[in-house]
Amino acid sequence: MEQTFIMIKPDGVQRGLVGEIIGRFEKKGFYLKGLKLISVDRSFAEKHYADLSAKPFFNGLVEYIISGPVVAMIWEGKNVVTTGRKIIGATNPAESAPGTIRGDFAIDIGRNVIHGSDSVESARKEIDLWFPECPVNWHSSLHPWIYE
Ligand code: UDP
Ligand code: MG
Repeated sequence: MEQTFIMIKPDGVQRGLVGEIIGRFEKKGFYLKGLKLISVDRSFAEKHYADLSAKPFFNGLVEYIISGPVVAMIWEGKNVVTTGRKIIGATNPAESAPGTIRGDFAIDIGRNVIHGSDSVESARKEIDLWFPECPVNWHSSLHPWIYE
C-alpha cells in the first residue's frame, strides 16, 4: 500500500501539537508505520530540501528545520500522499482552509508546522533518507472496518 513521509516541524513540537497531528492521521484511518523524535543537522536538512536549494527562502528554511527536534513519521494507506497533503493544507497558512492542520494551527509560511511528501516518488526518497533502518512491519486489525 502507498506510504508517505510526514514530519512535524520544530514549531509543531515546541507548541505541543504532536498528539493533535498524529490523532488526525490516525482517526482518518491511516496506519502509522514509522515514528521518531529526531534533531537533524544542517547537511541533512539541506539534503531533505535539496530540490529547493535555489530558492531565496532556502537558508531560512534550513535554519527553521534545524532549530529543534522534529517528529518524523511514515503513514500508510490508500492515496495517503494526496490525502495527507489535503489534511495538511496549503503551503501558506494564510491560504490553508480551516479544518486543515496549517489552516487551524499556523499563521506564517515559514512556521507552517508540518511537512508532507508531494508525490509517491518523493515519499519513497524521503522515507529512504529519514528511515534508513527497516521500519517495523505490522498490520492493523481494524483494516476490514476501514476498507471495503
Ligand atoms: N517556504 C517558505 N517560504 C516560501 C515557500 C516555502 O518559507 O515562500 C517553506 C515552507 O515552510 C514550506 C517549505 O518551505 O513548507 C517547503 O516548500 P514547499 O514549496 O515544498 O511547500 P510544502 O510542500 O511544504 O507545502
Ligand atoms: Mg514540498
